[in-house]
Amino acid sequence: MQSEQFDLLVLGGGKAGKSLAMDLAAEGQRVAMVERGMIGGTCINVACIPTKTLVNSARLLRGMRRAAEFGITGAAEVAVDVALLRHRKEDVVGTMVAGQRKSFIASGMDLVIGEAKFVAERTVEVALDDGGTRTVSGTNVVINTGMVPSLPPIDGLAGAEVQTSESILRLESLPKSLVILGGGYVGAEFASMLSIMGVQVTLIQRARQLLAREDPDVAAAVADAMVRDGVDLRVCVEAVQVSRDGDGTVTVELSDGGSVSAEDVLVALGREPVTAGLGLERTGVELTGRGFVKVDEHLRTTASGVWAAGDVAGSPQFTHASWNDYRILKANLSGAGPLQATTGRLVPYTVFVTPELGRVGLSETEAREAGHNIRVARMPVTAIPRARTLGELDGAWKAVVDSDTDLILGAALISAEASEVIAVVQMAMLGGLPFQQLRDAVITHPTMAEGLQLLFSPAFLED
Ligand SMILES: Cc1cc2nc3c(=O)[nH]c(=O)nc-3n(C[C@H](O)[C@H](O)[C@H](O)COP(=O)(O)OP(=O)(O)OC[C@H]3O[C@@H](n4cnc5c(N)ncnc54)[C@H](O)[C@@H]3O)c2cc1C
Repeated sequence: MQSEQFDLLVLGGGKAGKSLAMDLAAEGQRVAMVERGMIGGTCINVACIPTKTLVNSARLLRGMRRAAEFGITGAAEVAVDVALLRHRKEDVVGTMVAGQRKSFIASGMDLVIGEAKFVAERTVEVALDDGGTRTVSGTNVVINTGMVPSLPPIDGLAGAEVQTSESILRLESLPKSLVILGGGYVGAEFASMLSIMGVQVTLIQRARQLLAREDPDVAAAVADAMVRDGVDLRVCVEAVQVSRDGDGTVTVELSDGGSVSAEDVLVALGREPVTAGLGLERTGVELTGRGFVKVDEHLRTTASGVWAAGDVAGSPQFTHASWNDYRILKANLSGAGPLQATTGRLVPYTVFVTPELGRVGLSETEAREAGHNIRVARMPVTAIPRARTLGELDGAWKAVVDSDTDLILGAALISAEASEVIAVVQMAMLGGLPFQQLRDAVITHPTMAEGLQLLFSPAFLED
């Protein structure tokens, strides 16, 4: 088989793959990156960027509804214009996609648009978008094909024309009512944002609580805020059947014998790695039981010269984790110095509900399970002066400290700006600072970050 030979072949232009491809191409290596259409990957096109653009609109709407509280009048008649909302979202996404395309080309990489499939070791055949095929080989190959929304085998679901996190972004009007299946972070973010926009949301969660992995008190605080915004949250129940009537109404039959009907359904029941159909069986690349590419801590697959990164490699499902994978890959591909590893890295995250949940490190439950002796700090957001000036008094902060070492083990911050403040806690953890150093640091007043001094003060940190 005749194939074009490259130093690096990247399969799927996600965060890790595109960053690596651009860098190595700019350094003069021969690089081909195959992408089946989403220039810039999932995050920019159908995940983080469009959803957070919409969350921002929802928050603005919320703020405008409260304008009179802040001494601003004349904003009583605010409403969502879906066409303009979509226009802004597409403008933000389009600008970023165009910027990425330009950077890809400027780097000197060979950007191959089409669907790739392995046909031999370290060799793919690409069904080109504009017709024809190309066969491309790499001395090194990186698989970065990401994940896609999964539709579990619930009776009737496949035929009910339901929405996924991707298709819902293309809707031309907001449904009056929506059932969301799944209370993970994707379901929670859509529930929060859409209920603020006036959609009557029912959220169906099989677990005992929203955000099943969080401490119960943290999940309850997020749930309370959402319920106050009008979400009908049902826990300990799952969908067993879904059907759409002739008039378009969708009815979801529930495991408790009840049912709920709405104009539409959003399925947020998890995502599946894009590995099926890649021809991996021809390459010696093994999969885990859940279909992810099996990698070691250096992101090496089971096939020599083939690496994997991002969601598809089972890394934490966040863009910043994939970005960190890129750094590890870049170091490891360079052959210089000892191999870098994913082991023990601290990956924070934010659930962009309103108010948002910023998380880093261990939860209280995880810290206890890991055998740490702990002290827990808990504080209502009302204690923070900045929260008062913002008029954002909803939420609570929590942190877990190791009582033997005084090191911070983790934090869960629910408030305005929690996504920013969590990075401060993360830096303290990375720097190995005992909590007293964060408590006693001089932090600008009045800021949300300043609240950390209070959180770790005797008033809120248990003995
Ligand atoms: C609704 C939603 C909101 C999210 N919000 C956030 C957030 O706020 N912050 C955050 O950090 N994370 C967020 N995430 C998660 C984040 O989007 C992912 O973790 C991240 O995009 C994973 O990147 P990746 O590098 O693994 O690859 P991806 O960005 O998924 O890229 C994979 C690429 O491979 C391409 N591809 C697949 N198969 C082939 C093939 N055979 N041939 C050629 N190309 C192929 C795809 O087209 C895609 O472009 C969100 C996810 C969702 C669903």
